[in-house]
Amino acid sequence: MDTAISIKNLGYSYSDSSILKGLSFNIKTGEFFVILGPNGSGKTTLMKIAAGIIKGYKGKLNILGQPIDSYTKRNLAKKIAFVPQMIPTDSPFTVSEVVLMGRSPHSGFLGFSRQKDVETAMEAISFAGVEHLAHRRINQLSGGESQRVFIAKAICQEPEIILLDEPTASLDLAHQIKTMDLMEQLKNEKKMTIVMISHDINLAAMYGTCILLLKNGKIISLGSPEDVLTFDTLEKAYGCKLLVDKSPVGLFTRITPVPQRYLEEDKQKNMLLRNFSK
Ligand code: ADP
Repeated sequence: MDTAISIKNLGYSYSDSSILKGLSFNIKTGEFFVILGPNGSGKTTLMKIAAGIIKGYKGKLNILGQPIDSYTKRNLAKKIAFVPQMIPTDSPFTVSEVVLMGRSPHSGFLGFSRQKDVETAMEAISFAGVEHLAHRRINQLSGGESQRVFIAKAICQEPEIILLDEPTASLDLAHQIKTMDLMEQLKNEKKMTIVMISHDINLAAMYGTCILLLKNGKIISLGSPEDVLTFDTLEKAYGCKLLVDKSPVGLFTRITPVPQRYLEEDKQKNMLLRNFSK
């Protein structure tokens, strides 16, 4: 497996406040890489740096073997697509028009769309399951619908790597699964590398091939879901006790939040919880 993103001693500060503190890790091509961690741990900042949006970081960052700064904006967009957390919902454009904009790094002189661009946009719309919305305006869609349209736009860009910042946050359960299945399909069928920030540890356990757990700009743990999502590591990261066992469906690691009152009622339950957790 080659390396999609290589990060060495990466540091970043907003004014005087140090956010990322010397991170080093690689993301292999073809991974479904999930970034987890409590609020404020630096996940979005890290992703925006990898997307080429935030500059002025310290350390080394290579995308597909080349320093990110050696790419032109257009060439970087052929390699990486970024679906931000806050997607614009006030756009007057139609869904088809927004998805077609994903072709801009590939389009020819003066940015005219060619037949192939239109076909790729239609395929991306169908792949993301938003055909029924194609003629609607973005400003008439729900948050979840526009999220899927911007995923279609990223697919239309035909990048090698897709970065997604909490793409399932505003989706109902069925659409969360649909979105995760779609990303898995992109990874398996189109050989894309998927990098996703999530707050849903169970989705990360079910779909992630590699998990990065961040806290305060540092790596708490990195590895397979089984290695990273343990009782002790999660307590260290989130500062709360979670039941960690296996789901009978597919034997995925399963994480269940436990109400504080359950633990307060009986101290022995703390022990039970730890012992139940594998
Ligand atoms: P996460 O995605 O893990 O919640 P972020 O990368 O969004 O973390 O933020 C990390 C820290 O950086 C937070 O403390 C946040 O308040 C701060 N931060 C984020 N964006 C800015 C900004 N533009 N200016 C100053 N501080 C920021």
